[in-house]
Amino acid sequence: MKPIHRGGFLEHYDLDIDKMLEIIKDRAASKVLIQIPEGFKRHAYELVDRLSPRTGSGVEIHIDASPGFGSCLLDLSVVGDYDLVIHIGHEQYPYWLPPKNVVFIDLQSRTRLSSDVTESLFTELRSLHARRLAIYATAQHKDLVNNLIELARAGGFEVLNKGQRVIFGCWFSDLDAIKNSVDAVMVIAGGKFHALGVGLRLGGGKEVVAVDPYMNAYKLLKEHVIKVLKTRLGKVVSSLDASSWLLIAGSAGQYRPGLIREISRLITSSGGKYYVATAPYLTRDLLTNLDSDYIDSIVVTSCPRLAIEDLHDYIKPVLTPGEAFMSLRRRLDPYVFPW
Ligand code: SF4
Repeated sequence: MKPIHRGGFLEHYDLDIDKMLEIIKDRAASKVLIQIPEGFKRHAYELVDRLSPRTGSGVEIHIDASPGFGSCLLDLSVVGDYDLVIHIGHEQYPYWLPPKNVVFIDLQSRTRLSSDVTESLFTELRSLHARRLAIYATAQHKDLVNNLIELARAGGFEVLNKGQRVIFGCWFSDLDAIKNSVDAVMVIAGGKFHALGVGLRLGGGKEVVAVDPYMNAYKLLKEHVIKVLKTRLGKVVSSLDASSWLLIAGSAGQYRPGLIREISRLITSSGGKYYVATAPYLTRDLLTNLDSDYIDSIVVTSCPRLAIEDLHDYIKPVLTPGEAFMSLRRRLDPYVFPW
């Protein structure tokens, strides 16, 4: 048999294995489920291999294969089958309290930006006269925020956001409190997803910089945000005459009964009709299967980013809750995101 030498993923991240073992022991857990974000799932074996030899033979560790886009969407029927669920790499979703057997463990990337990339970013911001900044990150890069804040301050910038600096795709920490005072917002994350969320929340009025430590690069996003906003306004306008609506309800932290109630009230009071369909994870195939000539417009009340990222080119308008409010209240300005 060939000797097994695989892995190496954990060398690039800070993950407190001892803390995980302590929690397993403290909770006397014998059935443990590991949840790890999309993109990291293939590395879960390395983690299980680190844990298993130290837990003793009475502990069974499984990997959750369902989508792990956020701490907002846990399959509660599966979670209920385990003594302990270790959710890695996300912080708790601010809009939802998960079951008590779920614990959150940090997964911190050790990847850092090179000094020439940081310098070039600061030079570009100076050329845009952007002196007052807010700097946020996704949970996996939160250690980098303090580092970038120090560098920004040393470079003569003012950093306005305080305390909590982690953002989600639909929750933006203290951004609302400072949005009128900042000149630009930096978002440290892999890809543009989180920075675009910030741009939509700001309605396209400020520069947003997507800072990607994995690529050792940054991108100014304002133009892209404005382009997306135009598309989104098009959807809002095309729903102005809709009389029959399909509201997609989600589950766990993506179940938002208050929003469904308010949207359905507005539909009925304007003489329209609505149907509610529930789908823990809405896909294009599922929507195509569900759709019919009964439906004019669709509102996704589960994850607001599905309408924007996954279903922006669907044959009928697919709206976020904020966009549904705009359309039903016939107020096209300001852009409302996410609800
Ligand atoms: S954007 Fe979607 S996946 Fe991300 S936290 Fe919000 S609801 Fe969850």
